[in-house]
Amino acid sequence: MNFETLGLHQAILKAVSDSGYTEPTPVQLQAIPAALGGSDLMVSSQTGSGKTAAFMLPALHRFASETQVSNGKTPNQEKQAARAKGERARFKPAQPKMLVLTPTRELALQVTNATEVYGKHMRRVKVAAILGGMPYPKQLQLLSGNPEILVATPGRLIDHMDSGKIDFSQLQMLVLDEADRMLDMGFIDDIEKIVAATPEARQTMLFSATLDGVVGNMAKRITRDPVVVRIATASTKHENISQCVHFVDDLSHKNKLLDHLLRDSSIDQAMVFTATKRDADMIADRLNIAGFSAAALHGDMHQGARNRTLNSLRRGHVKILVATDVAARGLDVPTITHVVNYDLPKFAEDYVHRIGRTGRAGRNGLAISLVNHAEGQNVKRIERFTKQLIPVNVIEGLEPKKSPASRGARKSDDWKPGDKRRSNAQKPSQRTFANPGPQAKKSGFKHGRSTESARRAFASN
Ligand code: AMP
Repeated sequence: MNFETLGLHQAILKAVSDSGYTEPTPVQLQAIPAALGGSDLMVSSQTGSGKTAAFMLPALHRFASETQVSNGKTPNQEKQAARAKGERARFKPAQPKMLVLTPTRELALQVTNATEVYGKHMRRVKVAAILGGMPYPKQLQLLSGNPEILVATPGRLIDHMDSGKIDFSQLQMLVLDEADRMLDMGFIDDIEKIVAATPEARQTMLFSATLDGVVGNMAKRITRDPVVVRIATASTKHENISQCVHFVDDLSHKNKLLDHLLRDSSIDQAMVFTATKRDADMIADRLNIAGFSAAALHGDMHQGARNRTLNSLRRGHVKILVATDVAARGLDVPTITHVVNYDLPKFAEDYVHRIGRTGRAGRNGLAISLVNHAEGQNVKRIERFTKQLIPVNVIEGLEPKKSPASRGARKSDDWKPGDKRRSNAQKPSQRTFANPGPQAKKSGFKHGRSTESARRAFASN
């Protein structure tokens, strides 16, 4: 099945083809026809599955197919016309037709960017991101353009609703993206309030890693006869991501290992996850001093600084992003080849989200966790959650001196190549383990013993 057979508007098909997508992903295959038919959706799909296009392509199709019936004046134009007549300009709230709610600012910006890409051949569809941390005057300016699509984080959206800047009476489509994460972050009351302000006749599409428990109950409350699509849950195997654990004796051993791992010439870009914001800053500083191009990303940074860091990462100016869990979900940078858990996450589910920052858009990835001997139980918890064993690897010359519990090293023989989706963004000259490029020879890099099998698997696709 290709995108043409889904019956999408020509302008959208062109944008999809420009993006290098040749066929719909499984979530798109199931969600797009249902959404085009006007059904509500409850979708569980893993991060990186192509879910943004699954809700945005049918929404844009609807806008592209609508005949233009408005009087054509934006609130801004009406203000100018009023001024020209010498009348006092009357404030008119924005009346969006579609609202996408996301848990984080990063995801909101990503959805906004994807919407611009998917809608680039359409004549008039405006999208605006309404997020915390952005100056109010700038957002009021965006709202005064009366965008058809708002992508928002709940808190800031409610500020604008309370001050009468947004009127949802014309809303046709409501999307809750990463709904489970929004609930985890305590947005339940905000979501209820926002949903209550929208028309009952809206189409509602809810996307979540899981549809169980609280999020499932909420999904049932706010949707009507939804089509339920279950692609995978958060505990799904990331089959295209090779995983391993390195046991560490102490902080100095951990830092030496990190330094060694990051000198691997097969790294295009890497993310290092830390437990604290302070550590993210400290490690980024340390890596920069050691000659890496690294930057930190965490919740204490202003939105402007966060955006600049992410842009530098996307442009390839930053090679190693050291981040807290603020970046564990949603962040989509296909050139991230490696994820390193400098600290293990608190919850097993977060591990799945963190490692999902690599292996994007059908590529392969490598996820490495640095673990104290005392944290063996936490690794087991992750293994139980993901239903996968994580092999223990050792680097020659950097072996732990203490005994790594009773696990023993395992081979990563359950790894299988991921699906064969190809992105045209893939660089032909991209270095792989098989073809390490000139740097590897220069640095005298030695492969670790059992890491070798993971590397071979990684390079083989
Ligand atoms: P998402 O889950 O929406 O964050 O998308 C994950 C990544 O998959 C993004 O880099 C998209 O550009 C990419 N993507 C989405 N749909 C397709 C497709 N049909 N074929 C190839 N890549 C896709």
